[in-house]
Amino acid sequence: MSKTYNIAVLKGDGIGPEVTDATIKVLEAVQESAQFKLNFLYGEAGYYCIEKYGTNLPEETVALLKKTDACLKGPMTTPETPGAPVSVAVKIRKMFNLYANVRPCRSFPNVEALKPNIDLVVVRENTEGLYSGIEYEVSPGVGVALRIITKEASLRVAEFAFKLAAKRKKHLTYVHKGNILRITDGIFKDAVQEVSAKYPDVAVDDVHIDAMTMHLVKKPETFDVIVTTNLFGDVISDEAAQVTGSLGLAAGANIGDAYGMFEPVHGSAPKYAGQNIVNPIATIMAAQMMLDYLGEKEAAAKIEKAVMQVLSEGKVRTKDLGGSSTTSEMSEAVASKIRML
Ligand code: NAD
Repeated sequence: MSKTYNIAVLKGDGIGPEVTDATIKVLEAVQESAQFKLNFLYGEAGYYCIEKYGTNLPEETVALLKKTDACLKGPMTTPETPGAPVSVAVKIRKMFNLYANVRPCRSFPNVEALKPNIDLVVVRENTEGLYSGIEYEVSPGVGVALRIITKEASLRVAEFAFKLAAKRKKHLTYVHKGNILRITDGIFKDAVQEVSAKYPDVAVDDVHIDAMTMHLVKKPETFDVIVTTNLFGDVISDEAAQVTGSLGLAAGANIGDAYGMFEPVHGSAPKYAGQNIVNPIATIMAAQMMLDYLGEKEAAAKIEKAVMQVLSEGKVRTKDLGGSSTTSEMSEAVASKIRML
């Protein structure tokens, strides 16, 4: 009997439903020749839920996530007013202890990029740091944000990054601002150095965050695995994605010891919502990472190959890639390539 995976699908806001539907079509094409079944369980989450449920992550959705093997998540709009519900992604990452955020950035065929031959992965600590958004207005006009960095979380993410580096080109760069944030980034740096002793074959170097933003533009091809704290990782992974061509191609995985959530790096791009013009490849590649995480390597490889072939041929190109193809044309092109593999 074939194996069945329960997959939570949260379509999200803005362009989320379009890119998620496009990805489900690709996953359905993969399933036609696979030895496993994906059982999609759709849940509600996002900005649109706040009016209906008073929260962006209803309890029913949390219960649904707990019944599943992995989650495919569309982008969601996060309100910026103080006191508004915290980002759904941040809540799920913390709730399921998804401590490693993995964002591969590489050159794609036929996609105009700032530099060629890029193949790096940003591993970002995903549960603490400045990105947690713990802030207080201590007196009118005076705000404080807490940047909590723990040895435990730093060791955990460093271990994940070293394991990945050992499987790749054996080169790890850790990014920090230890010259200014001596205590918090001191803890992070010490943790990375402690873990590095277990991986003598992995070459290690460190770069300050400000210098890193410059190196990613100037010489991105010299990096392999980059590990950093939460907010720094958020910023440099968007930058690296753009350097390789488009935010519309960049996927991310949120991985813990018992669960994984997979999403595009981009947000809900509300100005493009409902127009069927954005690039679904970021979400399709998130699904590819999900299959890889589930151990379905062959199916994951098929998606990757199909995406690369479609991009190489260059006949179907969305607006961000300089073409005029629609979101659904792109997903149909990838799905039909998969059926031919
Ligand atoms: P965004 O990523 O939504 O959009 C920035 C720009 O990137 C867009 O205007 C568009 O030009 C381009 N872009 C994004 N996705 C694309 C795609 N698939 N194809 C082609 N081009 C694409 O970032 P933003 O405008 O800063 O944020 C909008 C909303 O998304 C905010 O509410 C933010 O909080 C939210 N957000 C959510 C997540 C998430 O759910 N994980 C991540 C980032 C931002």
